[in-house]
Amino acid sequence: MRIGIGYDLHRLIPSVERAGIKLAGVDLPCFFTIQAHSDGDAVLHALTDALLGALALGDIGQWFPDNAPENRNRPSAEFVTLTMREVKKLGYEVVNVDSVVMLEEPKLSPHFEAMRRRLAELVGTELTSVSVKAKTMEGMGPVGERKAIAATVVVLLREISP
Ligand code: MG
Repeated sequence: MRIGIGYDLHRLIPSVERAGIKLAGVDLPCFFTIQAHSDGDAVLHALTDALLGALALGDIGQWFPDNAPENRNRPSAEFVTLTMREVKKLGYEVVNVDSVVMLEEPKLSPHFEAMRRRLAELVGTELTSVSVKAKTMEGMGPVGERKAIAATVVVLLREISP
């Protein structure tokens, strides 16, 4: 068994239109956009780091540098898919994923199931093995002031039985 943790934070930009943000591969309508080189999906970036961390493979910045032109506006799901390829290559599979998203809005609870479904699909596990939780920062700090969104993800891996 191997365990990994990942964390990510992105700056939120207020938007006059209902532009929306992407989290766990799901489009969430809201009056914000995310400032990022890729699509800025903090949950998928934290998940990628958790997977890499579990196998001591470095971090997302080494694998997918944010100054590389091919990573501009790249769907973050590709980071997870490519990382899962490495995980499998080393003989591991995902047991479960737990996550905490820190944000003030939009309200995540209506989207929990879609987010869990997408995460389960990306790491090749059951819906019941994926958890998404949300926390507000009670108006404090950059997340509380709606200037940023952050996510922490923990994954457990096990060796694929021969
Ligand atoms: Mg990021």
